Amino acid sequence: MKFPIDKQFLIDCFKELVEVPSPVGYDLQLRPVLERYAARFGYTVTYDRRGTPYIELEGQDNSKTVLLSAHADTLGLMVRHIEADGTLLVRALGGINYCNIEGSTVIVYTRDGRSYTGMMVCRSHSVHVFLDARTLPRNDETMFILLDKDVHSKEDVQALGIQNGDIVHIEPECEFTETGYLKSRFIDDKAAVACAFAMLKYLSENGLKPKYRTLLAFPYREEIGVGGRYVPEEVSEYIAIDIGLIGPQHAGDERKVSICAKDKNGPYDYELINRLIGYAEKAEVPYVLDVFLNYSTDGNAAVRGGNNLIAADFGMACWCSHGRERTHIDGIEGTAQLMLAYVLDI
Ligand SMILES: [Zn+2]
Repeated sequence: MKFPIDKQFLIDCFKELVEVPSPVGYDLQLRPVLERYAARFGYTVTYDRRGTPYIELEGQDNSKTVLLSAHADTLGLMVRHIEADGTLLVRALGGINYCNIEGSTVIVYTRDGRSYTGMMVCRSHSVHVFLDARTLPRNDETMFILLDKDVHSKEDVQALGIQNGDIVHIEPECEFTETGYLKSRFIDDKAAVACAFAMLKYLSENGLKPKYRTLLAFPYREEIGVGGRYVPEEVSEYIAIDIGLIGPQHAGDERKVSICAKDKNGPYDYELINRLIGYAEKAEVPYVLDVFLNYSTDGNAAVRGGNNLIAADFGMACWCSHGRERTHIDGIEGTAQLMLAYVLDI
């Protein structure tokens, strides 16, 4: 059976979520948005002491608890130093590829609630001025933020309320094409969060309960490898919903769901993957099985954290991961359909 997912909802929900800044560990702005989406479908959000949000779905059988995670954090930056000329030096939050953010608009959030836009600039920023403009490596040492304000000194910047430790969000530059392609930063993993809400929408509109008690988790520290490290004791299966990869010797396709058999931290659970393959076939979800190179999820963070559970990982395949990514609505829809097939145990 094929689950009819509301594609327009998926698109609208993603567009809203991706504009809300949530670099690693920063949940202030996304928290009320997640609570609003949960409430819309009759659910509430609870938090553990690490600030991980959970939505609990009662099952037909509550003797077993399973968990699906869609990490809420994204890559980002943190202000580390204000230079004498009023430019800002940063450190990466998560696996930033600086080549991919040169020229992008960024937004600096101060601790007192103000925000300022700026641009990511390389020290050798112009081919007319610097002979190494094309070759200088882009990294923490060579990149800085040029604020869109008339500032010329450290004091000018401090007067704006900007200080070391401020969070920097990178504009997602989100665009859906008429041909169904989504181009945006942070498809990883806001598209999975949108899938979680599309699943809740389907369940609530059809009055359906998952087979087992189900937790949806939205960790804020996946991009530094520890989002799934703590898992509530009763969880026996941890399914990380996270992007698939595209590249040479990878099977990923934007219009399909990648089920990951192994990533850099080892294999996912053999029997659980077999079950996911079965669900994909029954729900008519186009999928590939794949082995990922330099990749990890909260699923194996949960296993490596010593939790008593088995784990798996699947999601829509993306071009240019950790850059301005691209996928297709078919891959996002398939991800939501496979989540439904899993929780309903079709
Ligand atoms: Zn991810």
